[in-house]
Amino acid sequence: MIDLHTHTNISDGTDTPRELINKALAQGITTIGLTDHDTVGGWDEAASALRSGIDLVRGAEVSAQTTDGISVHILGLLFDPHNAELAQILTNTRDNRIGRMERIISKLNGAGYEITMADVQAQLSEGATLGRPHLADALVAKKIVKNREEAFNELLHNNSPHYVGHYSPTPEVAIHHIKRAGGVAIIAHPFASLRGRTISVESFEPLVAAGLDGIEIEHRDHSTADRQLCREIVNTFALIETGSSDYHGTGKLNLLGESTTSPANWEILAARATGVEVIRA
Ligand code: AMP
Ligand code: ZN
Ligand code: FE
Ligand code: FE
Repeated sequence: MIDLHTHTNISDGTDTPRELINKALAQGITTIGLTDHDTVGGWDEAASALRSGIDLVRGAEVSAQTTDGISVHILGLLFDPHNAELAQILTNTRDNRIGRMERIISKLNGAGYEITMADVQAQLSEGATLGRPHLADALVAKKIVKNREEAFNELLHNNSPHYVGHYSPTPEVAIHHIKRAGGVAIIAHPFASLRGRTISVESFEPLVAAGLDGIEIEHRDHSTADRQLCREIVNTFALIETGSSDYHGTGKLNLLGESTTSPANWEILAARATGVEVIRA
């Protein structure tokens, strides 16, 4: 079973990278992609936790935003982490998330919710990419909401008055630099409309021109119609279809291996990468 998109507590998941590998192995995953938001900080721990039976695909989920403000996530797999331009993009995004969080907090304070940056930092492991799920956890700890789901539904969603964006490259720039760093670039859950506005079918052409390799079609946030539309785009541009869980530990309902990528498709993608190797224990 091949699951190319998962998160740990190096971003907004709840398992350590070691726990992720252990759980994936126990659940019959044979190839696991580690794709924390905007960071490669979990790569070494995941590699050191590997045991025979599971291969590790090192990656990251790069936050991007179109010029008209639509959030897009690009999975970069097997890129060279020492590529200076890509590393700088990831650093800029992580740094910008801190001021952005302060602005969200001050909006919440203005609306009467008593929450501080220290409350949010208390939910974050050392060096992790800061995100709204940590704020959600802080709101849960303060008993303002019951769980992450309620925090997002009531206060933190993209159309909320408390929402603030953060610096991100455009999807074209993210794809370009992932490719330059020898990685493969897959657009994650492109039509997951529960999260906010999504890109149009017409927006795919420039992404393909920038080097897009594939589309994550099988994802729990895609409806049957979303998947059908994705398949048409995959056929139009000869892209590769993937599926993955987007596992976040206890931070989301998503279960390891609930959606997967076919071995044939993974073979095609892996053969295109020149950044770092798949680690086979
Ligand atoms: P951010 O990167 O700070 O903009 O936060 C986005 C993250 O929040 C993504 O990783 C999503 O997986 C997560 N997220 C979005 N909606 C929800 C939700 N309803 N429940 C839990 N996590 C969510
Ligand atoms: Zn996440
Ligand atoms: Fe995502
Ligand atoms: Fe994700």
